[in-house]
Amino acid sequence: MSTDKKPATRVTTAGRRPEWTGPVVNTPVWRASTILYDSVADLRQGPKSNADGHWFYGRRGTPTQWALAEALTELEPEAAGTMLYPSGVAAVAGALMSVLKPGDHLLMVDSAYDPSRSMCTGLLADWGVETTFYDPLIGAGIAALIQPNTRTIFMEAPGSLTFEVQDVPAIVAAAKARGVTTLIDNTWATSLFFQPLSLGVDLSIVALTKYVVGHSDGMAGAVTANAATYPALRDTAQRLGQYLSPDDAWLALRGLRTMEVRLRQHQASALEIARWLEDQPEVARVLHPALPSCPGHENWTRDFTGSSGLFSFILNGGKEAARATLIDGLEHFGIGYSWGGFESLALPVDPAQYRTATRWQAEGPVVRLQIGLEDVADLIADLRAGLDRFSLCS
Ligand SMILES: *Cc1c(COP(=O)(O)O)cnc(C)c1O
Repeated sequence: MSTDKKPATRVTTAGRRPEWTGPVVNTPVWRASTILYDSVADLRQGPKSNADGHWFYGRRGTPTQWALAEALTELEPEAAGTMLYPSGVAAVAGALMSVLKPGDHLLMVDSAYDPSRSMCTGLLADWGVETTFYDPLIGAGIAALIQPNTRTIFMEAPGSLTFEVQDVPAIVAAAKARGVTTLIDNTWATSLFFQPLSLGVDLSIVALTKYVVGHSDGMAGAVTANAATYPALRDTAQRLGQYLSPDDAWLALRGLRTMEVRLRQHQASALEIARWLEDQPEVARVLHPALPSCPGHENWTRDFTGSSGLFSFILNGGKEAARATLIDGLEHFGIGYSWGGFESLALPVDPAQYRTATRWQAEGPVVRLQIGLEDVADLIADLRAGLDRFSLCS
């Protein structure tokens, strides 16, 4: 694998094997259930060819999925392979189920994406896995929470609504000292701005739905694993029958080719807006990993090479109704879940209800913004008018 290429080159070239693309540039959609064999003898060889990138059966993929998986693997220098899933949540489930068994203990970050949290308290609890939630800023202190049956530590950097950046190397060091596996949800930075496997993390999860698909028109997930964890990850996904459709894989592959340039624009626009928001009197705090005021900012500076388009801000006092007027009147921001597309979104978020290990304390209600590819001046004017509505209502 050519680890010497720069990221922008990798996203445009990775996975484009001539035997998969044919004479066209990007791998086309290969739809398949049955794969035909030449003869009985050839069929008998089939199970032996159940390796990545070989024809076997539709559920093991076609060149469309192989190209995407190979491209994602190539973005992480330490990776052994990538499994694809029909959504980011399916990828979280696939990663967790590949490392956990009944009786195991899991350490889960308190700032995690809510469906990841509820997977622990629901599905995994029912399957006999016990979860302890921990402070996202715990760092090396995680060692004190590791029990004899602790099997894995789940991280997410930065936190989904509140953007604390975890000290990944400190947590990995504590985990390795006790033989504990580590997982991270790397959806926010993607492997372009953060390569967790290079810091010793075993499995890296990305909701491709966000920046990789990048156009709010498809859902997909991926887990990229190192050599120690990839065989079990692959085996678990195959046993559960989890895979990504070739059409959605193609959308993700198409998005991936332009992701570097899109992410750089999301980064620049979001940072400009985050800095502007910091100066507005209605705003108490801006939670953006690249701003020094963000908890864990020093970890971001040390470990990440960029920031993406998603961040939150805390309003100065104000009620639920004032926040709603701010958001409802925005012209350029849609109101809806998900993010990572070309369009801006604004969402009211209430972190306190998703916390158990720590207490969320803030000066007022919180708004999460996804900054899209619109002109920054238009977005700022829109937000300024929103803050005026907020002031009038407060
Ligand atoms: C959206 C998201 C997911 C889940 O992805 P889906 O494709 O929506 O299932 C997982 N983790 C994070 C951090 C997310 O934002």
